[in-house]
Amino acid sequence: KEPLLHSDPELARAIRLELQRQQRNIELIASENFVSPAVLEAQGSVLTNKYAEGYPGRRYYGGCEYVDIVENLAIQRAKQLFGADHANVQPHSGAQANFAVYFALLQPGDKILGMNLAHGGHLTHGSPVNVSGKYFNIVAYGVEEATGRINYDQVRQIALREKPKMIVAGASAYPRAIDFKLMGEIAQEAGAYLFVDMAHIAGLVAAGLHQNPVPYADVVTTTTHKTLRGPRGGMILCKEQYAQLIDKAIFPGSQGGPLMHVIAAKAAAFGEALRPEFKAYQQQIINNAQALANGLMQRGFNLVSGGTDNHLMLVDLRGTGITGKQAEQLLDEVHITCNKNAIPFDPEKPFVTSGIRLGTPAVTTRGFREADLDLVAEIIAITLRGQDNPAVKEKARAMVKDLCDKYPLY
Ligand code: PLP
Repeated sequence: KEPLLHSDPELARAIRLELQRQQRNIELIASENFVSPAVLEAQGSVLTNKYAEGYPGRRYYGGCEYVDIVENLAIQRAKQLFGADHANVQPHSGAQANFAVYFALLQPGDKILGMNLAHGGHLTHGSPVNVSGKYFNIVAYGVEEATGRINYDQVRQIALREKPKMIVAGASAYPRAIDFKLMGEIAQEAGAYLFVDMAHIAGLVAAGLHQNPVPYADVVTTTTHKTLRGPRGGMILCKEQYAQLIDKAIFPGSQGGPLMHVIAAKAAAFGEALRPEFKAYQQQIINNAQALANGLMQRGFNLVSGGTDNHLMLVDLRGTGITGKQAEQLLDEVHITCNKNAIPFDPEKPFVTSGIRLGTPAVTTRGFREADLDLVAEIIAITLRGQDNPAVKEKARAMVKDLCDKYPLY
């Protein structure tokens, strides 16, 4: 029992401390979640030992008969979950999945229209520090300052003027529903591919609580570890006509051997997502996000776009006297974990910011419900307003502890 503790106590201790941190803290990072013990078991399995370059039935190594079953299960379930023609479950991460899509469909120097990172887009959608921004010619769309929302007429204007080869839709910090159907129409008018990165909202999509981009996009990517509640990793879904190009762009194009233990964990998570309880879980994520958003607004905080349609929100801290960086630190001290996040048109530098991003997928997995999220809003309010008052911090920590004790994790 506990072989790691015996062979390497220093490492085992660090892992134990991380478990305790997850148990002790209220986790509001919008991109995180807690996987089930079944997913953990699959990921910790002997499949980590197996090389399986290639695809089921077409491998470059012997002994793949059982990992083929595993990968086929993951593929079938992914296709069923999202209604896709084709699924590639091998990307090691969301960034790898996105890179493979560019590699499959574009040439260096081609023009991509993506969402501005500073307005909620992702690094891999054309940031100058990412390969997407270095190898391609990037034009960006953003949100309107007055509404905090994407203006699709503006996106259309930019697309028709710039004639990109590809339009990227999807975001890391956008609290509103995205109209993928409309983005598909714009892409068609402009003669561009539509590539949707649904990483953040994949769980909502799987549950039918957000418009599914699969019918409208040429290619869709996702991470598997956010609302979808699987292991850390990526996936690509596409129309049959792109299947070969996409598969080749992952292997041998940009990856070697697939992580079969992670693919097993993806299969386990997709199996969970196909059950009716998953829809109830996703609905509760949204209900909890509404409760947190309303709780914060009732306590005088401003949210970008005035609320949320999905699992996350951006608190606009301008005028409160604290920055995103300070807020993240203050909340961490009372055991609430979140991340500082630039808000659209942020006057502060990206490492400081004027916002924090809050999401409810992880606390919802723990069992939190609407009334608990209202209490979380109260803890956030007293903590950010109490600043360095030790009595306030003490009170906030006690409230966090009560909530975490009410919903034990693992
Ligand atoms: N795409 C979006 C929209 C994301 O939010 C993220 C993660 O933050 C990624 C891609 C990248 O995923 P990964 O961290 O697995 O590379």
